[in-house]
Amino acid sequence: MRSLLFVHAHPDDETLATGGTIAHYAARADVEVTLVTCTLGEQGEVIPPELGQLAAEEADQLGGWRIAELRRAMAELGVTDHRFLGGAGRFRDSGMMGTPANHRPRAFWRAAQDDRLFQAAVTALVEVIREVRPQVLVSYDEVGGYGHPDHIMAHRVATAAAAAAARPGQPAGGAPWQVAKFYWTAMPRSAMQRQLAALRGAADQPFELPPSVDEISSVVADELVTTVIHAPDQQPAKAERPVRLAQVDVGTAAAGERGAQFRVHQPVAQREDRANAPGVDDVRPVHRCDHERNRQEGADADHADDVRRGGL
Ligand SMILES: [Zn+2]
Repeated sequence: MRSLLFVHAHPDDETLATGGTIAHYAARADVEVTLVTCTLGEQGEVIPPELGQLAAEEADQLGGWRIAELRRAMAELGVTDHRFLGGAGRFRDSGMMGTPANHRPRAFWRAAQDDRLFQAAVTALVEVIREVRPQVLVSYDEVGGYGHPDHIMAHRVATAAAAAAARPGQPAGGAPWQVAKFYWTAMPRSAMQRQLAALRGAADQPFELPPSVDEISSVVADELVTTVIHAPDQQPAKAERPVRLAQVDVGTAAAGERGAQFRVHQPVAQREDRANAPGVDDVRPVHRCDHERNRQEGADADHADDVRRGGL
């Protein structure tokens, strides 16, 4: 039995970024899928007027609502093993970078300043890693895809936990476990370009669109994407179409396609040390190419094989 662990920041990230991949592997009998969600997404924007009272600045009940939403989403994707990091509500959604919510006592982003909080998060994830023993870990890159503090922290915690889980003894019980591969989610530029073009051509689409794909901070150069998971089994009617979009049923012209694009992280043995992790001021909109590093380290053949197989 193989194990695949996803570490996401908020309820909905798992579906928006990796829903196709999750469903694809959850449907296989030989793979166990585990999702860890780091916060309840309490600071999320509430769009339906009838739910407006849930918002953080109103009754602050959005987190509880999203637990139930996530449970339903997991049922749709076929995931039975889902946990919140450290238990539901242990870490709070930090809101967008630079907002007062960054400083709330349980804000996940506070772990950037508070080493005890950071170690608590890492320990909680080490416990999960040593329990489910995943060959493959999936989370975000060092800028969290688009700079949200909770996504950045999810990357740092996942990186540190993968390393710590492999070291005997610390910081949690259980036998050491070495994660073999760590993938970062990614949205290739060409895929986003096609998606934008499709949206522009769609009748009655309600969204205000950016003038160019370059306005979208989460986009990465195509050559950084090393692995694509095709999930046609999740959409039999569209099995002939190339599945390369990460959005799932978001009302776009491409709605219903499921897929995800992954960029390969350096092998976890050469992990980024937390001491060298970028601080708030260092968050960059430009993504580093780890593919080149992988090539230098001789891991390229393995990763290229991933791409050809379309699997992990
Ligand atoms: Zn998120």
